[in-house]
Amino acid sequence: MMDGVLNASILKRAQEQNIAKIRTHDLREFAEDKHRTVDDRPFGGGPGMVLKCEPLVRAIEEIKKQEDGSKKEAKIIYLTPEGRLFDQSIARELVQEEQLILVSGHYEGIDERVRECWIDEELSIGDYVLTNGVLPVLIVIDAIVRLLPGVLGNEESAAQDSFGELKILEGPHYTRPAEFRGMQVPKVLLDGNHAEIDKWRQEQGLKRTRERRKDLITKEKKEIS
Ligand code: SAM
Repeated sequence: MMDGVLNASILKRAQEQNIAKIRTHDLREFAEDKHRTVDDRPFGGGPGMVLKCEPLVRAIEEIKKQEDGSKKEAKIIYLTPEGRLFDQSIARELVQEEQLILVSGHYEGIDERVRECWIDEELSIGDYVLTNGVLPVLIVIDAIVRLLPGVLGNEESAAQDSFGELKILEGPHYTRPAEFRGMQVPKVLLDGNHAEIDKWRQEQGLKRTRERRKDLITKEKKEIS
């Protein structure tokens, strides 16, 4: 599931340019029995299966060892609906880390003892439950990698994006033609006055944020508006 996303577009380019190194690991490769068992029934009964301690801890320890060259300890993150809600400010924190190990759960999740003793942080991508942690892991990787210097070209700069420098929504974009089925592009964008264009864009971003995400408007932004 992961390879398709990791080997396309900007994530692919970031790896080809050695800006990011992303490796995926199959938990079954760290199981020691002949059936390569990674899960078992929950103690106390109930539905579903739980990912076992031994393969997961062996995987974490092996992956850390393989990265011996790094100066800092890898930060180990488990993706779970019970974690801190992932957002752009967390992506900005995590991009500072030298190495991250992102643990994807399956079934009912992972044994609590691994969470207590090996996981440094738990992150959720939203208040809903997916079948496994592959998509959450990919979302976190994508959000972080695009913040690494050199990954985005100028035309894709992250600073202007929603939740970027101004921490509001970005607002509308237009491209050619200037008129489409009777709908015009705002004149200010065609006049070439960059100060006016910047001002218009900031106003549009604030307007959109007020309409859709009032929660993002802090006191200081209310003053600009
Ligand atoms: N029993 C868990 C609960 O109720 O919190 C849900 C387990 S879910 C079916 C299986 C795995 O998918 C989780 O271990 C986690 O890794 C991943 N997952 C599902 N939804 C997620 C979310 N919103 N954020 C992060 N990870 C999620």
